[in-house]
Amino acid sequence: MTDVEVEIEPVSGAVRPVAEGLFTWPDAPRLIATSCVACATTTFPKQASCPRCTGTDMREVTLATRGRLWTWTIQGFEPKPPYAGPTPFEPYGVGYVELAADAEGASSVLVESRLSESSPDRLAIGAEMDLQIVPFRRDDDGTEVVTFSFRPAEAAG
Ligand SMILES: [Zn+2]
Repeated sequence: MTDVEVEIEPVSGAVRPVAEGLFTWPDAPRLIATSCVACATTTFPKQASCPRCTGTDMREVTLATRGRLWTWTIQGFEPKPPYAGPTPFEPYGVGYVELAADAEGASSVLVESRLSESSPDRLAIGAEMDLQIVPFRRDDDGTEVVTFSFRPAEAAG
């Protein structure tokens, strides 16, 4: 009996967001937030009631794809479970990006996010950051699961 080498490439090509209602998908991804009709406070991810005034009249809004880095840090050691990331662990940037809501009167919101950049030399408070959709993991059936991240905006010019 001879060994037969079989190589099967995952061919599903399917891609899905890591969570429903987190960002619009697949066309023109934008983060989905809620804005309180009573006091205009914007929350991300979506919430059923307002953390500021406890109102429950919330409207769905999308967020700008570019914002400013409010603060950041580098996650330099592996977080405790249920952390699920690449093995071996690789340091990554984490930050808050201030994003305007695409709706008149709605406040801006600070969004906690992974950053594509893990080099402190390339991150600065106040820097412009762009939304990106990145691979997160793969399902058993080969479906690519994607999540959002922010990267430093390309320098203009
Ligand atoms: Zn409110």
